[in-house]
Amino acid sequence: MTAATPDAPPAGAPVLELEDLVMHFGPVRAVDGVSMSIAPGRVTALVGESGSGKSTVGRCVVRLLSPTSGTVRLAGTDVTTLSRRAMRAHRRDVSIVFQDPAGSIDPRMLVGDVVAEPLRLQGRAGNRADRTRRVAEQLERVGLNSSVAQRYPHELSGGQRQRVSIARALVSEPHLLVADEPTSALDVSVQASVLNLLADLQRDIGFACLFITHDLSAVEYLADDIAVMYLGQVVETGTREEVFAHPRHPYTQALLAAAPVADPVRQRERVRVLLGDDLPSAIDPPSGCRFHTRCPVAVERCATVVPALRRVGGGTVACHLVEDDGTGPDVRDQPHETGDPA
Ligand code: SF4
Repeated sequence: MTAATPDAPPAGAPVLELEDLVMHFGPVRAVDGVSMSIAPGRVTALVGESGSGKSTVGRCVVRLLSPTSGTVRLAGTDVTTLSRRAMRAHRRDVSIVFQDPAGSIDPRMLVGDVVAEPLRLQGRAGNRADRTRRVAEQLERVGLNSSVAQRYPHELSGGQRQRVSIARALVSEPHLLVADEPTSALDVSVQASVLNLLADLQRDIGFACLFITHDLSAVEYLADDIAVMYLGQVVETGTREEVFAHPRHPYTQALLAAAPVADPVRQRERVRVLLGDDLPSAIDPPSGCRFHTRCPVAVERCATVVPALRRVGGGTVACHLVEDDGTGPDVRDQPHETGDPA
């Protein structure tokens, strides 16, 4: 029997649509009304500090978490309230690669079985010869020798294990890959090669990707579009070029200004905007604009009136002080500490 092809989204329709997604853990409002979409073949980076809720969004998308409310639509189908069993039919639409390959791979399974497992769970494993061939193809595709199939995960390096995770995630040819900080648990020396691999695979295969990261240099390298999260909400979206060239939300400006650059001369010269205190608690988020307790340009109404996420230029932004034509304050022009003067 030939395996069924996953339902492709209707032409031009988003691979992923989130509508007012909410995920609360008791009193913790981890995700609080996120709406966004990803078009076929696009890479959207979801960025923000640790605790912003970006990984929780990823887990809702693959239905490792059942959202408190809101809608998750995969390839046009609302999967928000599907049971685990019903969700199985949509497992081919979406896969996830986690930050720590050691935690996401069963150490007792041979690598070949790890890679083939999604096919088995979807009832598409075929006979042994088919399986062996597909596993070998996948391993080679991610830059590993097919003989690795007969080894156990602990016999591999961290970078090799993450390649196995990627092979496993892509074996069922999903329309959407959720990559949750896929390189941040790896040695710095192998981070670039795994990122290159993801970029090459995405270009060759053309899957859409929700790339969850705090690493803005990786975003610059891999993403087509950017969504910036702050304390459970999206505060700015746009194309990579637009957001990097003209960040409009003060939080986005501060994030970009705080990102380290490789060139030490540039690093010394550039402005360092201090975000001040840590991220406020998601149990009792600040009133009005959630960023107002840290925003260097906040005005009185920021503490009481919630700014709507509205369309500005080719993207969206939620800030009272950004005009409809995209002009507004730039926190990098505010009084600040400069980088290391030495
Ligand atoms: Fe800052 Fe006010 Fe804009 Fe929020 S709405 S980012 S506090 S200026």
